[in-house]
Amino acid sequence: MTRVVFIGPPGAGKGTQAVKFASTLGIPHISTGDLIRAEKKAGTPLGMEVQKYADEGKLVPDEIVLKIVAERLEEDDAKKGFLFDGFPRTIAQAKSLDRYLKIHHMPLSVVVFFDVPDDVIVERICGRRTCRNTGNVYHVRFNPPPASGRDENGKQLDLYQREDDTEEKVRVRLKEYEENTAALIPYYKESGVFQNIDANRDISEIEADLADLAIKLSA
Ligand code: ADP
Ligand code: ADP
Repeated sequence: MTRVVFIGPPGAGKGTQAVKFASTLGIPHISTGDLIRAEKKAGTPLGMEVQKYADEGKLVPDEIVLKIVAERLEEDDAKKGFLFDGFPRTIAQAKSLDRYLKIHHMPLSVVVFFDVPDDVIVERICGRRTCRNTGNVYHVRFNPPPASGRDENGKQLDLYQREDDTEEKVRVRLKEYEENTAALIPYYKESGVFQNIDANRDISEIEADLADLAIKLSA
């Protein structure tokens, strides 16, 4: 059973790498950002509550995120392990996850930190385009969508720019990151399973390092 956490600033490339890494390891890719956007889209009471935070680039309060994560962990596929992408994002979330994992005797296998400077982040986020139909993530320059308008499985793409993917909101998100999430680095360094990855490289280079890591984790 492999249990993975991807942490790092917004736009560091976690989601891009998580899709393949999770599928190689046969574990579900759990992005709290995706779960929160799904609640918003469904218009649930919870979705309406989180909207104002997410659209402004602010962190959603811990108790709401923890509720969403607890529900997701109840699903059958999470019994095989998981890859958390963008969770935890505060020390309180990390401690709560630790408590849960301890009770269930399920230590984390690895915490991968995506290391990338702020100026790179702004460029990555402002060029990000997301597909409404497939959830695929592209970049106008660094990972352009196929000119055919269809993905590799022939599915029609319907690209949009996320509400929070503007330069103004990125500044708010980076501040949130510095104030709340960066503290997770020393926290997880103490855990003994922390791994730094230079995320300021081409997608394929990072992917190759993660493929090596997946082999080690599966051994
Ligand atoms: P995160 O999940 O950490 O917020 P994403 O995976 O969504 O980040 O990536 C943010 C944007 O940067 C996307 O548009 C993606 O296509 C692009 N991207 C991801 N990894 C790289 C990379 N190594 N180099 C250049 N652009 C990247
Ligand atoms: P990115 O990786 O580009 O920052 P995400 O899709 O992970 O974007 O998150 C989008 C938004 O969802 C965040 O700005 C925040 O409002 C909310 N969110 C996602 N995960 C968490 C979390 N673990 N704790 C609090 N808020 C979260």
